[in-house]
Amino acid sequence: MMFTPAGTLPARQRHALAGTFTAMAVVIVAAAIHTLLGVGGSRLDAPTQNWASCAVYVLVAGIVVFRAFRIAEARAPWVMIAVGISLYGAGNLVWSLWLGNLANPPIPSVSDGLWLALYPMSYVGIALLARHHWRGIPAGVWLDGIVAGLGIACVGAALVLGPVLDAATGSLSAVATNIAYPIADLVLTALVVGVFSLRGWRLDRTWALLGAGFLVLTVADSIVLLQVAQNSSSSSQVANLFYMAGVGLIALAAWQRPGTSDLARTESLSTLLVPAAFALAAVAVLGYDHFVRLGLLSFVLAMLTVLAALLRTALAFRDRQSFNETRRQAVTDDLTELPNRRLFQRRLEEAIARSALAGDGMAVLIVDLDRFKELNDTLGHSSGDELLRQIGPRLVEVLRPSDTLARLGGDEFGIVVDTPSDEADALRIADRIRDVLSEPFDVQDLALQVGASVGIALYPAHADTAGELMRRADVAMYQAKSAHTGRELYASERDTHSRDRLTLAADRERALRRDEIEVHFQPKADSRTGEIVGVEALARWRHPLLGLLQPDVFIPLAESTGLIRSLTRRVTDLALAQCKTWHRAGFALHVSVNVAVADLLDVDLPAQIVAALERHELPAGALVVEVTESSLFSDPVRIQDVLTQLEALGVSLSLDDFGTGFSSLGHLKTLPVREIKIDRSFVVQMASNTADSAIVHATIQLAHRLGKSVVAEGVEDDDTWKQLAKAGCHLIQGFALSPPLPAAELAPLLVELGVRRAA
Ligand code: C2E
Ligand code: CA
Ligand code: CA
Repeated sequence: MMFTPAGTLPARQRHALAGTFTAMAVVIVAAAIHTLLGVGGSRLDAPTQNWASCAVYVLVAGIVVFRAFRIAEARAPWVMIAVGISLYGAGNLVWSLWLGNLANPPIPSVSDGLWLALYPMSYVGIALLARHHWRGIPAGVWLDGIVAGLGIACVGAALVLGPVLDAATGSLSAVATNIAYPIADLVLTALVVGVFSLRGWRLDRTWALLGAGFLVLTVADSIVLLQVAQNSSSSSQVANLFYMAGVGLIALAAWQRPGTSDLARTESLSTLLVPAAFALAAVAVLGYDHFVRLGLLSFVLAMLTVLAALLRTALAFRDRQSFNETRRQAVTDDLTELPNRRLFQRRLEEAIARSALAGDGMAVLIVDLDRFKELNDTLGHSSGDELLRQIGPRLVEVLRPSDTLARLGGDEFGIVVDTPSDEADALRIADRIRDVLSEPFDVQDLALQVGASVGIALYPAHADTAGELMRRADVAMYQAKSAHTGRELYASERDTHSRDRLTLAADRERALRRDEIEVHFQPKADSRTGEIVGVEALARWRHPLLGLLQPDVFIPLAESTGLIRSLTRRVTDLALAQCKTWHRAGFALHVSVNVAVADLLDVDLPAQIVAALERHELPAGALVVEVTESSLFSDPVRIQDVLTQLEALGVSLSLDDFGTGFSSLGHLKTLPVREIKIDRSFVVQMASNTADSAIVHATIQLAHRLGKSVVAEGVEDDDTWKQLAKAGCHLIQGFALSPPLPAAELAPLLVELGVRRAA
C-alpha cells in the first residue's frame, strides 16, 4: 500500500488523491521520456520545461496541502512543508509565465525569493517532524545529529562550494543568490542526515522519501549551478526533470504511514561508528585543506565536526552506564522489567496514530489476575512478587514482537495488540492468554494455579483515544471478573446511560456518595434448632452500568486506594440502621460487619463505632466485628490496641476465615475474640473429605476449650449441617440456610424460622 493514510479518507477524497498522484506521475514520466529519449523532438523542450513542471508543482502543492489539512497526525510540520512547496510552485509559475520569457531576467528575481522560501519552511517542518516523532531524545543522540550534519556540510562545502565560488562571476547580489541555493541545500541535507542519525540510521518511508526528495532537489540545484558556472544551458532539461522528481518524492512522503518511534534505541558503542565516520571525513577535509586551500567555511566546518565528535565520544563513555539506566528505569517496571504504564501509554498512542493513518483496527487488552490479593496475603509479598515476575514470560509467548506488554500496576497487565486486529483476533488472543496463565506457576516450591480476567477494547470501534481505550478495557475486565466469564469485550450497549462513562476506579468515590453501596444480609442460625441468631452484613455495589458487583471485585480496589475506610463506615451504618429496624419489629438479631486492615490500624475506629451505635440507639452487643486472620499480622501491636478497646466497649470480635491464615494457635490464647469462623474452604467438602472433616472437628473442640463460640461458614447442604450439629458446632452460616439477601427478602425467613430472643 503506497498511500496508507488515505485509508481514513472518504471514498471520493481517496479517489481524488489517487487521481492527483496518477496525474503527477504521468506528467513526470512523460517529461522523462521526452528528456531522456528525445521522444517528441526539440519542439517539445519549451512546453516541457515550462508547463509540465508547472503542472507537477501545482499537483504536488495540492497533494501536500491536502495532507496537511486532512490528517491531524503531525499536522504542523506538514503545514510548513506545504506552504514551502506552494511558494516554490508559485516561483515556478512566475518564472514560466513571465520572467523566463525576458531576454535578461534579473538576479535575484521574485522567483528566487519564492524558490528560496522553500528552505526555511522545510527546515522548520523537518525540525517539527523530527520532534514530533522523537520526543525526549537524550543529549548524546542530538550530538550525533550535529556531528553528522556538520560532517555533511563540511564535505559538501569542500566539494561543491569551492568550485562554484571559483567560477562565480557577476554582481555581488547575483553571486550571493546563486550561492544561496547550494548553501541552503547543504543545510537541508545536513539536517535530514542529522535526523537519520537520530533515528539510529533506521529509516521509515516518510523519512527515506523526504530525504531522497531533498537530495534530488540538491542534485538539480547543483546541475543548474554548474551550468551557470560554465555558462551553458545544455542540461537545463535534465535539471528540470530532477526538480520534478524531487518534489514528487516529497508528495509521496506526505502520505506515508509514520514509523514507530525510537524508544527501543539503546546506546551501544556501535552507534558511535557513524559520528566517527563523519569525523574522519572532516579530518580528511582538513588534510586536503592543508595542501589545497579550500576556504574558511570548509575549514571551520571541519574543525567543528571534529570537536563535536570528540564531545560526543566523551559523553558516550561517561554517560553510557547511567544514561542507559535512567532511561530504562523511566519506562520499565522494577519488579518485572516489563514496560511500565508510562511507556504503555506512549506505545498505545503510537499504535492509535498508525492505525488511524492506515485505516485499520487494533486492540487493547487488560489482564488482571484473579484473587491475587489473597495469595499475596497468605503466602507473603515475596511469593506474590515471584509470581508477578513469571507472568511476563508467559504472556510474551502469546504475543507478536510488535505488540507491547506492560505491567500497569499491582497484578494488572496491559497489552497493545499493534497488528490490524478485529474482535475475533482479540478474543483469540485473550483465550490464549487465559490458557497460558492457567498452567500452574512454580512459586517457592508450590505449584500455584492462577486465573486471570481479560478485558478488551478495540480501536476504533470502542474509543479513539489512549485514555478512553484503557478505561474501556478496564470496564470490560471488571465485567469479565464479576460475570466470571474470564474475558469480555467492551460492551457499548451497556454504556448508554451516561455521557461520562466512568470506570470502577473513578467511580468508587461517587459510589459511596451516591448510595450505590448496598448491604445484603446472610443469616447465622443455631445448628440444632435452626433459629436465626444474627446476620452478616456483606457489601454489594449496584453499579449503574455493570449491575450488581460482588465484593471480591471492588473490596481489593477499595483497599488499595484507601477508600476502604469510608466503605466500612458506610456498610456499618447501613447494617446498624437495618438492625435497628429489626429490633423495632421484634427481631433481636445481632449484625456482623467485616473490617479490613486499614480499619484496624485506625485508632479512631472504636470511637467511630461508638458514635454509630449511639446514632442508631443500639447496644454494643448488637454489633459483631469480623476480623480476618491474615489482617491481624500487619501490625500486631497497634491492632491489638484497637481490638482490646472494641472488646472493652462490649462489641464482639469474630475471627473470620479461620484456618486460611498463618495465625499460630498461641495467638488464639491472647486475642480478645469471642467467636471463630471456620473458613468455608474446610466446611464445603467436609462431608466427603476426611481431612477437612478432621480439621473442622478439631477446630470446634479447640474453640470450645478456649471458651469461644464457633461458626461454620459455607454450609451448603443438609448433610454438612447435620454433621456440624453432631460435632457440637453451635452456629452455622451458608447456602443451606440462606444466601446473602437484601433485608426485605430476608424477612419471610426470619418469620418462618424464628429469631432467638436472647441474642
Ligand atoms: P466472608 O467474610 O468470608 O463472607 C462470606 C462469603 O461467603 C460471602 O461472599 C458469602 O456470599 C459466601 N458464602 C456464604 N455462604 C456460602 C456457601 O454456602 N458456600 C459458598 N461457597 N460461599 C458462601 P461475598 O458476599 O462474596 O463476600 C466475599 C468476601 O468479601 C467476604 O468474605 C469478605 O471478606 C469480603 N467482604 C464482604 N463485605 C465486606 C465489607 O463490607 N467490608 C469488608 N472489609 N469486606 C467485605
Ligand atoms: Ca466475614
Ligand atoms: Ca469468612
